[in-house]
Amino acid sequence: MEVESFSTGLGAISALMNLADLDRPEIESALADLGMPRFHGRQIFHWIYARGVTDFARMTDLSQALRQKLAASFTISTPALESKQVSSDGTTKYLLRLDDGRRIEAVFIPDTPAQTFCISTQVGCAMGCAFCLTGKMGLVRNLTAGEIAGQVRVLAHDTGLAGTAFNIVLMGMGEPLHNYDATMKALRMLADEQGLGVHPKRVTLSTVGILPALERLAREPLMPNLAISLHATTNAARMEIVPVSRKYPLEDLIAVCKRFPLAKRRRITFEYVLLDGVNDTPEDARRLVKLLDGIKAKVNLLPLNAAPGIDFGRPSDERVNAFAKILADRDLIVSVRRSRGRDIRAACGQLIVEGERRSAGQRLGVAIRE
Ligand code: SAH
Ligand code: SF4
Repeated sequence: MEVESFSTGLGAISALMNLADLDRPEIESALADLGMPRFHGRQIFHWIYARGVTDFARMTDLSQALRQKLAASFTISTPALESKQVSSDGTTKYLLRLDDGRRIEAVFIPDTPAQTFCISTQVGCAMGCAFCLTGKMGLVRNLTAGEIAGQVRVLAHDTGLAGTAFNIVLMGMGEPLHNYDATMKALRMLADEQGLGVHPKRVTLSTVGILPALERLAREPLMPNLAISLHATTNAARMEIVPVSRKYPLEDLIAVCKRFPLAKRRRITFEYVLLDGVNDTPEDARRLVKLLDGIKAKVNLLPLNAAPGIDFGRPSDERVNAFAKILADRDLIVSVRRSRGRDIRAACGQLIVEGERRSAGQRLGVAIRE
């Protein structure tokens, strides 16, 4: 890989290669390409991920001469912590600024029972689900692998959890399978034992079900847990609230889930946003049981996090409980997500960065500000 130079009116600026976007073998090759010994790549990777150090000058097990050479050739960019909001339940929402000034959100959810980081894979999202604030933004851009893994670096070091076992859920902004390569590369970088060593069984990828990408995921050597955002039990109903199902019908999604390879004791989680009077009837619950017949499944019910600009309501607790009971009575494993961080709008589907330039989708006129 080359170090590019370009000129501006202010003179030549050198764009240094960003090591944060490279996995460990790629860092080793980048060093070798510049005549530096490969094995230093492992040390640098360890500094970045395990110790949270991105300033070459502080990498004290490298010689002074090497540190200077590294600083002249490379940079290591990290999402900048712009602000942090702590909810009354301890959930912490991080607003992070990327190199191009775009902002994303990541959330630390303590004790669920594990410590969990919820991270983003895109700025905005192209999928346009009718009940989701991020969907209202439209897709602004994909995140790079370094930006995805970088959120975990920032949160792990800020919370002091680096080096401990924590969980990651890809349930922040964006559709991970719509940014497949960067997402999978980030998971490899995070799994690396020289760094944070996050085993894929501690990672859950949540997707609306982009079928070709799901088929590809089924063949991955590093397999995260799978969560499918289902939300409806008939094709017609799903098309109304999850537009991508016009392209990938419900029956096909279920068929792919049926043949998805699962490790022992693992199950596919089916997420189901409960929208008052839309998909929360007893008939829906019974259809859901039938639909999931033959799949090692568990169901996570997400009573809607209502917000201005979202044209749906949250069902009453009684309706939610009645729905859950029908599933549980038919021996489905079911949980109801207690929404965390609602007072700081850190809950699912509430991640949106206000003040981003409006996308075409937004210009359609949905007022999303409170
Ligand atoms: N794009 C992926 C992952 C991010 S969304 C996906 O859709 O699966 C993570 C979860 O939050 C999804 O299950 C999504 O349906 C849910 N969600 C989105 N908006 C929500 C809202 N307003 N209330 C409750 N859950 C919501
Ligand atoms: Fe995108 Fe997921 Fe929101 Fe749908 S629910 S718009 S896929 S982030």
